[in-house]
Amino acid sequence: MEQTLVILKPSCVERCLIGEVISRIQNRGIIITGMKMMQLNEEILREHYSHLVDKPFFPGLCASMMASPVVCMVLKGVDIVNVFRKMTGVTNGRNAEPGTLRGDFCMSGQANIIHASDSPENAKIEIARFFKPEEVFDYTPANVNFIYGDDELKN
Ligand code: UDP
Ligand code: MG
Repeated sequence: MEQTLVILKPSCVERCLIGEVISRIQNRGIIITGMKMMQLNEEILREHYSHLVDKPFFPGLCASMMASPVVCMVLKGVDIVNVFRKMTGVTNGRNAEPGTLRGDFCMSGQANIIHASDSPENAKIEIARFFKPEEVFDYTPANVNFIYGDDELKN
């Protein structure tokens, strides 16, 4: 099964929404294979947001991502990168569809509560950036055969 990297941003942690978001993840049938609290710094943010370092909002984005600890997670599921990006909603929370995490829990383009990898290739790079191999647990919960049909679990 595919994995993706998720960060619950300071806008999620400070607003005490960690539990709400984790509930939604687990209620969907998504498997959590890694989870830890971290304090981010500018070095890791320059790597993680390398596509944005030249934008005028980058210093503010960095400050907002360092404003409190974050919760980093690795999630596992069939087609999880695509599934979880849809669940996250578009970048600006004010434009995000109701029912998505951003559409239900935020009102901002910057303080948008959550990061989710945008492709399987980037997911692999981002998981390696935030987690040591031994911090990701490749277990399969007992209920997996009730989350998927058996033909969906072959790869
Ligand atoms: N961001 C921002 N202003 C913008 C665009 C992005 O503050 O105009 C922030 C926002 O927190 C976003 C992050 O930069 O989540 C990464 O931007 P990206 O375009 O990768 O959006 P995402 O993949 O998070 O939807
Ligand atoms: Mg992105």
